Amino acid sequence: MPELPEVITTINYIYPYIINKKIKDIWFDKKTKIENLTNKSISQLKNKCITDIYNIGKYILFNIDNDLTLIIHQKLSGHLLFSKFKIDQTTWKSPETNSPINDPNNRFIRFALKFNNQWLALSDSRRLARITLTNTKNLQKIKPINQMGINPLSNNWKYDLFKQKLKTHSIEIKKALLSQNIISGLGNIYSDEVLFKSKIKPTRKIPTLSEKELKQLFKYIPLILTEAIKNKGTTFNTYRNPDGNSGKFINYLNVYQRKNKNCKICNNKIESIKINGRTSYFCNHCQK
Ligand SMILES: [Zn+2]
Repeated sequence: MPELPEVITTINYIYPYIINKKIKDIWFDKKTKIENLTNKSISQLKNKCITDIYNIGKYILFNIDNDLTLIIHQKLSGHLLFSKFKIDQTTWKSPETNSPINDPNNRFIRFALKFNNQWLALSDSRRLARITLTNTKNLQKIKPINQMGINPLSNNWKYDLFKQKLKTHSIEIKKALLSQNIISGLGNIYSDEVLFKSKIKPTRKIPTLSEKELKQLFKYIPLILTEAIKNKGTTFNTYRNPDGNSGKFINYLNVYQRKNKNCKICNNKIESIKINGRTSYFCNHCQK
């Protein structure tokens, strides 16, 4: 699933192309569910401008100049692409030889907005992405957007607040890092990487964490996310950048999806454990 670095990479890429640009056309297939969407509201989008693009956690928000906001959560297999696509009945094609559409993973287009001669298209093989259209003034009523935890890349990232948020829970630290209402934007990849760098096992319960360990977490959460953004995120299976390329942070992962490979620090084998149905990767030697 795209996490904060992939969401921000996507926004950074598409922003200059679509900010203050008019939506020339809208396309979605019959099975695509757009929450709150009626024929009337979809027609309201046509010829309107995108006035802002930003994220709240893993949600991408597009403000539109008629006081509407389009919200996309890419979920497990969704990702946004931006290119000169062409729709030929139900098949998406491209006149360009190096088009993202040449990658079979990018052919599951469910929803698309046209700007000039290019489309912003959501490819989603498993159809789990969520698209919502709402009045901008109602944004703060939408769950879970109105319950998001601290953004690790914002000015609200303060140690006291971070500690206070965590300390109200006694769950495993891995589970807490994944809880979007505590810290927003972390998923399975980056929470495992943060725990490795912080030298903390994913199964540790929050009350057992020392002040030093909490400070390590506080330091490494934004640090690893920033490094991942510099490398345009991580591509394992489905995620692609809007130009169709893969994120390069996979080259810098220490534990995630590295089961039985050697730890880059101590050479012991990386292990995995299930926590709440999610596989966590860790080094039993480096992490305490
Ligand atoms: Zn190790």
